[in-house]
Amino acid sequence: EQGELARRSDAMDKNDTSGLRRLSRRAYLQRRKEKKVEEMRDEIVDHEFLFPGVQLTAAEERDMRHKKQVYGLVHDRDDGAGDDYYRMPDAYDAAANVDQEKRFSVARRRYEETAEAARDGKTANALSEQEAWEEQQIRKSRLQFGSMDRGRRGDEYELLFDDGVEFVRSTVMAGTAPADDDDTAAAAAADEYHAEAMDAKATLQDERKTLPVYKLKDDLLKAIDEHQVLIVVGETGSGKTTQIPQYLHEVGYTAGGRKKVACTQPRRVAAMSVAARVAEEMGVKLGHEVGYSIRFEDCTSEKTVIKYMTDGMLLREFLGEPDLGSYSVVVVDEAHERTLATDILFGLVKDIARLRPDMKLLISSATLNADKFSDFFDAAPVFRIPGRRFEVGIHYTVAPEADYIDAAVVTVLQLHVTEPPGGGDILLFLTGQEEIETVEEILRHRLRVLGGKVAELVICPIYANLPAELQAKIFEPAPAGARKVVLATNIAETSLTIDGIKYVVDPGFCKVKSYNPRTGMESLVVAPVSRASAEQRAGRSGRTGPGECFRLYTEYNFVSDLDDDAVPEIQRSNLASVVLALKALGINDLVGFDFMDPPPAESLLRALEELFALGALNSRGELTKTGRRMAEFPLDPMLSKAIVASERYGCSEEVITIAAMLSAGNAVFYRPRDKRVHADAARRAFHAGNAGDHVALLNVYNAWAESGYSPQWCRESFVQHRTMRRARDVRDQLGALLERVEIAPCSSAGGGDLDAVRKAVTAGYFRHAARLQRDGSYRAVKSRQTVFVHPSSGVAQAPPRWALYHELVLTTKEYMRQVTELKPEWLVEIAPHYYERKD
Ligand code: ADP
Ligand code: MG
Repeated sequence: EQGELARRSDAMDKNDTSGLRRLSRRAYLQRRKEKKVEEMRDEIVDHEFLFPGVQLTAAEERDMRHKKQVYGLVHDRDDGAGDDYYRMPDAYDAAANVDQEKRFSVARRRYEETAEAARDGKTANALSEQEAWEEQQIRKSRLQFGSMDRGRRGDEYELLFDDGVEFVRSTVMAGTAPADDDDTAAAAAADEYHAEAMDAKATLQDERKTLPVYKLKDDLLKAIDEHQVLIVVGETGSGKTTQIPQYLHEVGYTAGGRKKVACTQPRRVAAMSVAARVAEEMGVKLGHEVGYSIRFEDCTSEKTVIKYMTDGMLLREFLGEPDLGSYSVVVVDEAHERTLATDILFGLVKDIARLRPDMKLLISSATLNADKFSDFFDAAPVFRIPGRRFEVGIHYTVAPEADYIDAAVVTVLQLHVTEPPGGGDILLFLTGQEEIETVEEILRHRLRVLGGKVAELVICPIYANLPAELQAKIFEPAPAGARKVVLATNIAETSLTIDGIKYVVDPGFCKVKSYNPRTGMESLVVAPVSRASAEQRAGRSGRTGPGECFRLYTEYNFVSDLDDDAVPEIQRSNLASVVLALKALGINDLVGFDFMDPPPAESLLRALEELFALGALNSRGELTKTGRRMAEFPLDPMLSKAIVASERYGCSEEVITIAAMLSAGNAVFYRPRDKRVHADAARRAFHAGNAGDHVALLNVYNAWAESGYSPQWCRESFVQHRTMRRARDVRDQLGALLERVEIAPCSSAGGGDLDAVRKAVTAGYFRHAARLQRDGSYRAVKSRQTVFVHPSSGVAQAPPRWALYHELVLTTKEYMRQVTELKPEWLVEIAPHYYERKD
């Protein structure tokens, strides 16, 4: 027995938990503690190595703590981050698994091992063992769930519950009873709403009438009529987003089809999903009377009168139409999210409201604290839509969870097996697509193993890159006897309301942008949510009846570690892109711009410097011709600059292809577990001659185009067809913009001159130069940080002396992603104001 324990402990050291079911809890906790301490030490060493002598700010220190908590940072820039955000394909998600595996080690490895065992022919054995174990787990969790009493179980029987999550029900979040409200009519409306909402047979039109906003329709329209600017506040799900634009349409704000109603959303998915819903409610085809517009995708037509769009897109529309003359009403929705684009919009729409007395402006928000909006918009009146929320029981874990992915999966399964099916659906908040996919995979596997022993669990993921048909699935009720679990990003916090949710599982994390103006580095970071977010998330469970929220952290964490509110994005973003847009709008005095919360002066200065370096501004801070051209592209200024510069190097065709590939989002390559060797070989082929990652992307696209845009080719080459299709769309649009800025399509690679392409890229990214060090690391030339080639890069095998990178991602180390060889003399040639030769 001793020998067995030793063997298991060994396995644990290797982070292998498959053989570890029966380690005593005490031994396990002790080991876990040791491991955590070790990790912390590594992290700190890492940090000091990367930023020697740099004093951390309080925020950064907090950040460090969080990093440790989640085992590193997230590298892809996906759906959560709003549309106008410049995105990178997660080109090499396979290699990213290195980081991911570290992060999700426990859960993932367990999954993979079982899967592998199954493949190796040990199927029967592995499964039956697994089955037995699962069964035991279920029995155990039935007993254990909701109980605080863990001490009573004898050590000898204790299973290793890295798999069981224990909760304490702590507080109850009071419901908002309509009786509290003065307006009894509204109270009655809310009651009726819930009575009727239960009636599944209600038709779409009846359903509309059950929404809290419906009973206030006349009052609301009257208020809009009387006031030019109105702040609308209402609980999520009260019908603000879907109903108000329809009301406006019905009473004539779009009469004759001459003017439109715009409604902005911080996220692409929300704009698409809501537009689809409203088109359905109105019985029209999406893209006709009701449409949406998101970056690189315009689903509107001549007929469109209600237009849902990302806030970033409305910002861009200012460039073409500075008075937004084609809109009679602008609804800035989800104002409480305070995204960068929304914050800039505030200043701009406030200004044109003065100019255009005929235009109505609605600022709509889910938070009750609307005074700030009211103050900003010259004491605009606040219209409140009373909603009703049932009480929600709040549960916290007894102890911190080391692996929140694993804890989330287990909590969902625990809920599913212990709570009666049909009694309510589950909503799990995750941070992004990658995480959602991982959890989906693990859940599916676990359910397969459980087979018919538990009720059906319908898994519904939602994220931006999910095809629209699947996105719609989250709104469909689960079949009788089954339960639905929705895996969502914080899009489900306020933007989308899913009916029938009774349980919310909240790991307490979300993806946020973080920006350090000193280094000019921006990254997406997984960070704890704010207390306000946590409360919103919990509230999602109390819409149609009393709910329960399971927080995968302790009450102590909630009280002492979370911030009250999230910091507005404008205070933690790289501002180059918005500064360029503002300059293009003729707004020269940035310091005097009407910000609700001004960004740090340092960030503004950085942005100006960056634009100056790119030649978009002259030394007086005025827009140059290059800058004007750059502003036409809905891309990061560096990428826009590369495109504009391609004119000079005669390779605009190639550079827009690269830009499209970089912007298409999501992964380009994939790497199935059982075909890794093939996949890697296929990928290497695109890197022939150490071409560099930019040229490799170009090669992929061209080869695909040559195949006649064939899906078959994609499968054979281990390339994601969906990403490629999107890249093609993006490329078409960049081509049209090229024409608009009068750059002729031209190609250098036809003549084999790839250096021309590399030079054009360098013209945008010269600030991202790095030099090889003796130890194999690189030193970023400007920021002087030590950085590394990402293992997925094509140049990782033969690192060039000088390299240029597309972006840095911080995982376990600071990695350069998308790396291309650079000739140092190019720097002096291309950016003489920035570099000089050291003799
Ligand atoms: P608010 O903006 O006040 O949060 P919404 O207008 O988004 O409220 O939602 C009102 C109702 O419409 C909710 O009950 C929600 O479930 C429903 N709804 C919204 N979008 C969709 C959709 N795409 N499919 C089905 N129902 C939807
Ligand atoms: Mg809404």
